[in-house]
Amino acid sequence: MSQSSRYFPQQGRSKDSLLQEMKALKEKDMNWQDGRIFSLVFSAGDEVLELLKEAHALFMSENGLNPGAFPSLRKFETEVLAMAAELLHGDAEVVGNMTSGGTESILMAVKTAREQALSLRPEIKNPEIVLPVTAHPAFDKACHYFGLSAVHIPVKADFRADLEAYRRAIGPNTVLCVGSAPSYPQGVVDPIAEMAAIAQEKGLLFHVDACVGGFMLPFVRKLGYAVPDFDFAVPGVTSISADLHKYAYAAKGASVVLYRNAALRRHQFFVYTDWPGGIYPSPTMVGTRPGGSIAAAWAVMKHLGEEGYLRIAREVMNTTRHMIDVIRAMDDLTVLSHPEMSIFAIGSDSLDIYAVGDEMSVLGWHMDRQQSPPSLHVTVNFAHVQSQDRFLQDLEQAVAKARKLSWNKVSSKFSVGLVKGLSKVLPEKLFSRLVTASNSSGPKGGQVPKRTAAMYGMIGSLPNRGDVEEMVLDFMDQTYRVERDPG
Ligand SMILES: *Cc1c(COP(=O)(O)O)cnc(C)c1O
Repeated sequence: MSQSSRYFPQQGRSKDSLLQEMKALKEKDMNWQDGRIFSLVFSAGDEVLELLKEAHALFMSENGLNPGAFPSLRKFETEVLAMAAELLHGDAEVVGNMTSGGTESILMAVKTAREQALSLRPEIKNPEIVLPVTAHPAFDKACHYFGLSAVHIPVKADFRADLEAYRRAIGPNTVLCVGSAPSYPQGVVDPIAEMAAIAQEKGLLFHVDACVGGFMLPFVRKLGYAVPDFDFAVPGVTSISADLHKYAYAAKGASVVLYRNAALRRHQFFVYTDWPGGIYPSPTMVGTRPGGSIAAAWAVMKHLGEEGYLRIAREVMNTTRHMIDVIRAMDDLTVLSHPEMSIFAIGSDSLDIYAVGDEMSVLGWHMDRQQSPPSLHVTVNFAHVQSQDRFLQDLEQAVAKARKLSWNKVSSKFSVGLVKGLSKVLPEKLFSRLVTASNSSGPKGGQVPKRTAAMYGMIGSLPNRGDVEEMVLDFMDQTYRVERDPG
């Protein structure tokens, strides 16, 4: 570095001083350990956390790209896959890979379907996938990356896929059909058996997105709750994604994608044979594969075992059912669906639910805002067992505040109109700055915005979704700008 470098430090700093700064920064992040945050962090308590840290650190430098060099990682990965396949009723034919997360697992399943279609049905020029509107955006991302089209089908009043619409949406270009177990927004399981049977009847692949449910639903069922068949026990299911870094309580960067057989998975692989650097085989999207996440996933699964996961699932389910009962009994609030497991959405017919969300933010809770219909999202995990009572008390208080401040509704309606008008007359840049100013961070992560009801109301009511996309893209430019004036 030249003497004039401004950002790249000329001289190194001590470990102590750096760690001190980093710990101070961490203090200002959302504290997930006390169960005030939903969906972003899954915690199984301190003992598991310590195990994860040690297992992760032990293999932090190892690279899963070359299993020949690290037989330890190969053992961990294959054993994780064997455990996952068994849990999801896969037979001895089922194969899969570990990936960096649900998105990568889904990207791989869509890419596999596209490649299979390319080889078996080369007449298809514009491959499509059919999926419910509630399916995770990772499928839309996969279509965006790999040149497919997503055909979205509606859900019924219970938020489960509409079978009639599903059947109608399947056409000559369809290469893959998708159902969720459960879907993220309202936490309900699609009619997987019926959907997979239709796909099978038409000779199509069927993917179950069990990213969030794959390591929870099997235990929920074992506890005696009603869970419909959703995995390889259903004949037409050809692939499944299930995230280890969610309800398997693994360290971040761990998921599995499983296939009915090796012939199907073959379409997932990539090999380049002409590189001067040697023959290059790569099973999934990434090149270098962090050994730490593979090792930590293996460790937590072996540590908890069925008994441990059942114990945690029991508490999580008791907490969920209690929360849902209390919320249903509250004036002005509803729970939108009847979820099979521990994910639900809170809505309201009489209040601005985003205003309730704002009051919850003020009280220190991080809840995702959802649209169509407007709601607040709850993913209950083990960390919420201890925070449930405080959550319910605070929710009661937030509702009371939102009720009192019903003039807010008027003012937020007013600002919706105002912003809508402004968006038509103001230059784009200025408008985006205004919106950014009302919410100084990304929708997930960064500092937590306190009052956003007006913004969400406004965004939800903009008729042109292209405008919304532009706004969000501007917003991303801002969020991911290079920090040249560190505060
Ligand atoms: C979390 C989730 C995903 C995406 O997983 P990432 O690990 O965030 O990439 C996909 N589908 C569902 C249902 C999910 O809950």
